[in-house]
Amino acid sequence: MILSHMSQVQTVKLATNIVDVIGERLKLDRSGANYRGLCPFHGEKSPSFFVNEAMQRYRCFGCGASGDVFEFLENYDGMTFAESLKYLADKAGIVLESFAPTGADAQREKLLEILDLTREYYHYILTEHRIGEPGRVYLKNRGVTQDSIKLFQLGFATPAWDGLLNYLTKKKKYHLSDLEAAGLVVKGQQGRYYDRFRGRLMFPLRNHRGQVVGFSGRVLEAEAKEAKYINSPETSLYHKSDLLFGYSELFREIKKHQKVIVMEGEFDLISSTQAHVNHVVAIKGSALTESQIKLLGRVATQVLLALDGDSAGVKATERAIELIAATNLELRVIDFARSPELKAAGMQGKDPDEIARKNPKLWRTLSDQTISAYDFLMQSAFERFDAASPAGRKQIIDALAPVLGRITHAVEQDYYIQKLAEGLNVRADLVAKDITRFANQKVGPKFSTTRPEPPGPKALTKRQQLEQYSLYLLLHAPVEKISERAELLLELGLAEMGSQPILEALMKKLKTSQDFEIGKFAESLGADLQAQLFFWFSNPLYEKNGEVIEDTTAEWQTIAAELKKLAYQRELQEIQTQLEALDHLETKTKEQEAEISKLLEKIVLLQQKQRL
Ligand SMILES: [Zn+2]
Repeated sequence: MILSHMSQVQTVKLATNIVDVIGERLKLDRSGANYRGLCPFHGEKSPSFFVNEAMQRYRCFGCGASGDVFEFLENYDGMTFAESLKYLADKAGIVLESFAPTGADAQREKLLEILDLTREYYHYILTEHRIGEPGRVYLKNRGVTQDSIKLFQLGFATPAWDGLLNYLTKKKKYHLSDLEAAGLVVKGQQGRYYDRFRGRLMFPLRNHRGQVVGFSGRVLEAEAKEAKYINSPETSLYHKSDLLFGYSELFREIKKHQKVIVMEGEFDLISSTQAHVNHVVAIKGSALTESQIKLLGRVATQVLLALDGDSAGVKATERAIELIAATNLELRVIDFARSPELKAAGMQGKDPDEIARKNPKLWRTLSDQTISAYDFLMQSAFERFDAASPAGRKQIIDALAPVLGRITHAVEQDYYIQKLAEGLNVRADLVAKDITRFANQKVGPKFSTTRPEPPGPKALTKRQQLEQYSLYLLLHAPVEKISERAELLLELGLAEMGSQPILEALMKKLKTSQDFEIGKFAESLGADLQAQLFFWFSNPLYEKNGEVIEDTTAEWQTIAAELKKLAYQRELQEIQTQLEALDHLETKTKEQEAEISKLLEKIVLLQQKQRL
């Protein structure tokens, strides 16, 4: 049983190329022996994420994330191990024998099944059942087309207290506890369960992989006493801050444009797509989160905010600037407040839903009229405060210094400082002073997206550098030289973790065959040692201009000599410490006297060896 499981995993792994799988998701460029790209697991502007084809592993030299193709899919796509195995097997055309998930994986699959059935149930009521009539009328009045209803799988929840509950427990035989875990039912005061969503228009909320993980329900009557929207509660599957409505349906459109318009609500998004502006997502609220930005960074280079131009929009823009600063994304804003076309059409102050519905052509024009987030905040500050008075000027500086202080690109920052100085009619160097003062106040990274840059050679001790480089040179040596180099390194006793077992395995392998392939060799090691081997083999610190050093002989001789010298110094130091300890004794035994002369002999031998 276990064997067949193992061999299935092996078969799938052999049929898979990690470079293809990651390359479908990230932009990778060839760099020496590796492929290289921006790390998807931490925010960064210069690529420190490496994928190695021979080893079939990835590693980020910035945040340390590393693993094989299964681990990549688990971390990047949030798949379980069973899901990643199934996904890769399907891709390679391999039919897996029954591979029943267990424990948490099985529970997750069950909840996904329930949520998908619920989507189907609500959708059926909206589109087919007479109870769905009010929902159909409502959508018709809002101009929502049949295509949109189908694409976003909109639905309707019956007004009954137990419509969905009965369907799922009586007809589909699921347990109430599973319905509760999926966030679909609520327990009343008398301990009875009832449907969470009743008499509402239903929007399925999907994760980035297209799985339904929750719902948002909207009341139909404008004057209803209940909340306009209610959402699924946080569950093991639904995390509000990760979710982007429309992402899974529209990400191909977004990828094509390399831009994404971020809107507030579901209807804004639906109306926009009906006006043929399809590179959109809705955040269901007004603040973008870090994980939403990570998702957007996978498919776009520009994020365009289409949020209400009031103070909430300004706040959301300021917050988004902070989050985006650590990434490679560009942030722009659709400027509703100052668009001449919008003014001419008499539609100022209307939300994107209404603009797109009533004047699709105007919405298409607006969606291309963006200004940089910095310009937007500057304009807004100048409108809110009085630049003619000293107090107003101070307010403007206070509002903008934190924003402009965050610009990492000096030329760009300089541009906005000039602009601000002109607007305030003060000297640019004075404005610059205020802004740098703010920038210096920042203590350490504010968000986890801003991890430190990859550790450079200075973060390592001389010994670590020499050892890692020697291992790099060993692994890139011509096959006939590997044994000899490995033997020397073993003799020197490296401190690098895992070096001893790996070097021993390497020598053993070369004794039986002169064929050496790093990928095959890696497979014979356990996961921890594999990761260590990959680290030495692919360390970009030791590539010259992104190229693997071709002729390693000269480099090897220099490094080996330095390592020997270090080892010699260490040994000498050790002997001297022992000698000193013995010297301090007032009376010495015969054994101790013998020990001293032995140590002195050792020093002489060492010195002779060193001179050779
Ligand atoms: Zn990273």
